[in-house]
Amino acid sequence: MGRLTLTPKGLSWFSKGHPWVYRNDLEKIQDAIPGSIVTLEKKNGAFLARGFYSDRSKIAFRLVSRNQEPIDRSFWEKRLQRAHQYRQSAVEGTSAYRLVYGESDGIPSLIVDRYGSHFALQTLSQGTEILTSLFADILSHLFQPSSIILRNDLAVREMEGLPQEKKVLLGQSPGKIEVYEGNIRYLVDPWSGQKTGAYLDQRENRTAAVRYLRGHILDAFCYQGLFALHAARSSTKVIGVDSSQEAVEQAAENAGLNALRNVEFRKGNVFDFLKEQVEEGSQYDGIILDPPAFAKSKENVSGAARGYKELNLRAIRLLKRGGILVTSSCSYNLSEAKFLEILKECERDCGATLRIIEKRGQGADHPILLSFPESYYLKCLFLQKV
Ligand code: SAH
Repeated sequence: MGRLTLTPKGLSWFSKGHPWVYRNDLEKIQDAIPGSIVTLEKKNGAFLARGFYSDRSKIAFRLVSRNQEPIDRSFWEKRLQRAHQYRQSAVEGTSAYRLVYGESDGIPSLIVDRYGSHFALQTLSQGTEILTSLFADILSHLFQPSSIILRNDLAVREMEGLPQEKKVLLGQSPGKIEVYEGNIRYLVDPWSGQKTGAYLDQRENRTAAVRYLRGHILDAFCYQGLFALHAARSSTKVIGVDSSQEAVEQAAENAGLNALRNVEFRKGNVFDFLKEQVEEGSQYDGIILDPPAFAKSKENVSGAARGYKELNLRAIRLLKRGGILVTSSCSYNLSEAKFLEILKECERDCGATLRIIEKRGQGADHPILLSFPESYYLKCLFLQKV
């Protein structure tokens, strides 16, 4: 087994509990095969942990275990079972959820999303890449899935020197699968949809928002229309806007599936749409803003901040007094504090007063580790214009 030795600075960082070690915090790298399990040691050779080694990423080590135990099939089977047990207690009222959320489930850089009996897998580092067929095999054994799709078409894999690819690991590419979320049914395509087919991280926010949404609602960045469909159950009229033609077509099909006739979907750029709506003097009782991650890296936080500001500013202008704004940022690089600051600026620029009704994040199937801030990325606020 390969061995990595920490520098004194690396040791003090790792001792605080973070599950990653950066390459420049390593003093020595011995016999470490890319993607293999290696031992992390102190300078004096004392054992610290076992984890995945990457020879390409800045993240050279990802923690798997702090114990000197074999990392074999039965080890991974237990981790997957543990992830499943947690979901059984934390997830309810849906057939679509994240079964494995990487580091948060002790399986760094592995994502497994579940859509009924169909599974979608993503391996985001050299370590999990090597174990792809083992994970598929254990999942088959534990859950007897109808299909397992590998959705490795993600830019982050390039940092690990890994290619973009999509593959069927078990069964056949399932086409569109019908799943449910609360009292909404929708179709998801794990082979060609965005992410692994759905934005599962917003599930709890979608069902929770219904409590406050009445009247005339706008779902901006609607994707396959899920916020809109939930809102349509409690509201008079809902419009969803997304720039993707496939997404709005899927959203319309989903509306049909739920026999909802008070919802309409339009292809369009939300920035332009909001601008036009302000110019036309439109007013809404509720607006959902769920843009893609604008801040993909630390370097573009200020550009991203301008994007969030423009959207939220226009949305607040479009809200009636008493109206609800459900606003999200899924940019890890834009902190919750910064997001709140942007919203405060918007409030001031509009001469409005907003109150926080609920401060929310990603669903419980995307658990956040205290010692791993990177696991917390989705901020979602329910605000009311008073
Ligand atoms: N609210 C959705 C997820 C939205 S993800 C849900 O709960 O499922 C972000 C969406 O924004 C994607 O569907 C993407 O197609 C869309 N998008 C990205 N840029 C856009 C733009 N400028 N205008 C409209 N839609 C955009």
